[in-house]
Amino acid sequence: MKLSVRLNTICDRIPAGSRLADIGSDHALLPTYAVLEGKADFAVAGEVNRGPFDAASKQVAETGLGQKVSVRLGDGLAAIEAGEVDVITIAGMGGALIVRILTEGREKLEGVRRLILQPNVGEDIVRRWLLAEGWVLTGETVLEEDGKIYEVLTADRSERADKANAELYADTPVGEPPVTLSRDQLLDFGPFLVREASPVFRLKWESEIAKLERVAGSMGRSDSGDAVEKKAALERRIEWIKEVLACLPKDKPSSN
Ligand code: SAM
Repeated sequence: MKLSVRLNTICDRIPAGSRLADIGSDHALLPTYAVLEGKADFAVAGEVNRGPFDAASKQVAETGLGQKVSVRLGDGLAAIEAGEVDVITIAGMGGALIVRILTEGREKLEGVRRLILQPNVGEDIVRRWLLAEGWVLTGETVLEEDGKIYEVLTADRSERADKANAELYADTPVGEPPVTLSRDQLLDFGPFLVREASPVFRLKWESEIAKLERVAGSMGRSDSGDAVEKKAALERRIEWIKEVLACLPKDKPSSN
């Protein structure tokens, strides 16, 4: 069984011997692999849709892991009982949906010590939620696979969460000459990723600039107040990204 680089990166973040829930598991590849690798002693593959649920059930039956991987139909964390798992993975959906799942299932998070989250978009939304809920972001990876760029965020419980988060999101001087990044910039770009400034990270944000410039360009020359304000907001965002990229150290080796 072979996982994509993206799913493999997530699997690497699962501590050995965990009790895992993979929410939005689709074919249950991640929990199956995690059990086969000894990362998980037991895993739940949660799915809200019947098609992926059937595919997950088939995958688990074919690998003979029915005693160790429980496939369940349910919306978000409704698929698990409180205290049943200690690690949760949620991958391959938007950051807003990940945050909705975690918020609606908040009482199921008691006893969970690690979240491994891979939003396809809206990573900043996830970071802001983690910070507001007292989780500590302990690792970030950015990777490219098949022409797409993904971020994997790892967050842990900590008794020293306030102190750890204050340090993580403190104004940070980066580059030479140093430029101070604000908390908002660190939440947008990722406190670990921006400090590391890997080539894939640069590529991600250069692509984002190109996308925003296309959108701004397509807004044309409309004089309506709404269009002018939207275009100005896009241009401010483009400048904000360029400012950060300009101050980052160049020629760093990729961590992927
Ligand atoms: N996690 C896998 C991965 O990263 O390769 C599958 C990602 S797939 C794009 C997203 C999956 O999440 C779909 O199978 C979808 O049915 C499921 N999903 C979406 N909303 C969900 C929810 N509220 N609860 C559980 N599963 C959900």
